[in-house]
Amino acid sequence: MKCQDAEKRLLRSFDGELEGATKTELDGHLKACPGCRKKQSEYGVLLKNLKIEDVEPLPYFWERLETKLRERERVEPWTIWAKWSRRAVPVALALLLLFIGGLAFFSPGEEDLSQSEALLLRNDNPLAETKTFFEETRLEKKNMMIIFAADEKVPARR
Ligand SMILES: [Zn+2]
Repeated sequence: MKCQDAEKRLLRSFDGELEGATKTELDGHLKACPGCRKKQSEYGVLLKNLKIEDVEPLPYFWERLETKLRERERVEPWTIWAKWSRRAVPVALALLLLFIGGLAFFSPGEEDLSQSEALLLRNDNPLAETKTFFEETRLEKKNMMIIFAADEKVPARR
């Protein structure tokens, strides 16, 4: 094999195109020819350097950064919503409990007398009573809110 042929095959061998008998021939020539062995190592170094340039970190870095940023954009609205909803749950429960409490307060049957009967018998001023009721509920609501704000756990129903 001539050195010129060996060089061509050497280059092809770096691309992984060389196989079988051709590779054996080249290996045989390389063993016998120091000049081509030198070329082999030179090409090896050259290709190694070229490959390093191929995987230059910068474009991949930006690619990765962009992906990460996109992932964060996708993730963040969800986490914000999750955080918000976690805070919203006790508030919703508080409102629900207040609603149930209000229903229990208004429900007839708790007293034997109907509301109108009670008003007549007690001879109370209905407006004054209503005002007291609303003040009481407002106070209750405030207390409930304080309980919920202090401890985000659901308190036992009264
Ligand atoms: Zn040679």
